[in-house]
Formats: sequence, structure tokens, C-alpha cells
Amino acid sequence: MYKKGDFHIHSTFSDGKCSPKEIVILSKKREVDIIAITDHNSTSGLDEAIMAGEELGVRVIPGVELSTKYNSSRVHVLGYFKDDSYKNELLVEVLKNVKNHKVSNIKKLLGKKLDFCSTKDKLSVEAGIEILKFFGATVILAHPVLLRRSDFKKIIEMNFDGLEAKYFSNTEEDTEYFLKVASDRDLLYTAGSDFHSCKEFYRVHGIIGDVYLNEFEIYNFLVGGKFPYL
Ligand SMILES: [Zn+2]
Ligand SMILES: [Zn+2]
Repeated sequence: MYKKGDFHIHSTFSDGKCSPKEIVILSKKREVDIIAITDHNSTSGLDEAIMAGEELGVRVIPGVELSTKYNSSRVHVLGYFKDDSYKNELLVEVLKNVKNHKVSNIKKLLGKKLDFCSTKDKLSVEAGIEILKFFGATVILAHPVLLRRSDFKKIIEMNFDGLEAKYFSNTEEDTEYFLKVASDRDLLYTAGSDFHSCKEFYRVHGIIGDVYLNEFEIYNFLVGGKFPYL
């Protein structure tokens, strides 16, 4: 049974300072036995992390953090994969275009399979959710605490499977509020440190395991999100 889970971590494959393998080693040291690597618009570090995880006994859930927009606010959308669909070539191509703000290319790539609205070269939150779901991901709203509360209330009405109720910069009241939203709306919830580096002088992100899901919460997330509970 997993005891401690951190589901929001960045590696050198986006703006993190540790390689996927270093992240797994650090997780092990901090007794975090299940993690998700969620690089910005990239799944390229996942194979290395999963391999290191198998070696060291840390379960790695393949994830991604997608950049979307709600009006002019940035909204990050977390996707978690149940199998190796994170390797899907079409997904990799889509992510490249999200990174380069080429939304019209994404429409060309997915147009026949998926109908989504977008204005100019902004990827809307709804489109982000549908794209991740199309590739089989469980979709979680990242760090709701960073959103304007009025925006949050509208955004959480969208087709999310859950939200990141526990986030390293939350106050206790924030966490209580988001846990209540999850339970009222029957949504899944996760915990994330948003780890980027051990060496940040001014700490704008957490350290792996700063916040975490406990054994019972991990079970609920994995089973509720239809992940294989190995
Ligand atoms: Zn983020
Ligand atoms: Zn992040």
C-alpha cells in the first residue's frame, strides 16, 4: 500500500532542475512512494522516471501539466495517464504545439477527431480538458489557490475529474475549502508540491512530499481515477 503521494513535480524536461531519475531518488529519500512527473506541455521525461521508479520501488504515474487560458488568466491543467498513452505520437505533436502557442496546428491535428473552440492562439481550458481526456487522461485542475476565486468558481464547473486541493502554498483554510469543493461536487482530489528544484534561494515551489496524499487518499485517487492499483 502506498503511504505518501506527491502528484505534481517538474523535471529538466520542462523548467525543473532535477532529472527524472534524481527526482525518483529524492522521492525515495523523502519516503514518498508514489509520485507523478508533470512537466509543462511535455511527456518526454516519463520513461526515464518510470524506469528509475521500477528500480527503486517508487511508483511513477505518467503526467503532464498543460498550459491553457481562461480569458486572460493562465490556468494549468494536469493530466494523468493510466497506461503508455503518454507516448502517443499525436499527443506528443499536440503538446509541442501547445508549447509553441500554435493552437491552429492543434486544430489541424485533432480537427476530425475532436471539436473544440479556441480564440486566436489561446488554448481554452475546456479544449485542454477535452484534449487530455481524448488521450485517456484523468484531468485535474492544478493549484486552484492561484486562481482568482471568482474565476475558480466558473472553471470548476468545467469537465474536470478533480482538483489539486492540497498545494504547497495553500493555507489550512484554502485546503479545507478545496477539500469541501471536492466532496460537494464528488470530484477527485490530489496533492502537489509543484517541486522544481532543491536549490531555489527564494522558495517559490515546494519540496517533494511537502504536501501529500495519505494512504487512504491515494487509494481513493487511484481507484476513483481508474488507475491500476498495483
Ligand atoms: Zn502550474
Ligand atoms: Zn507545476
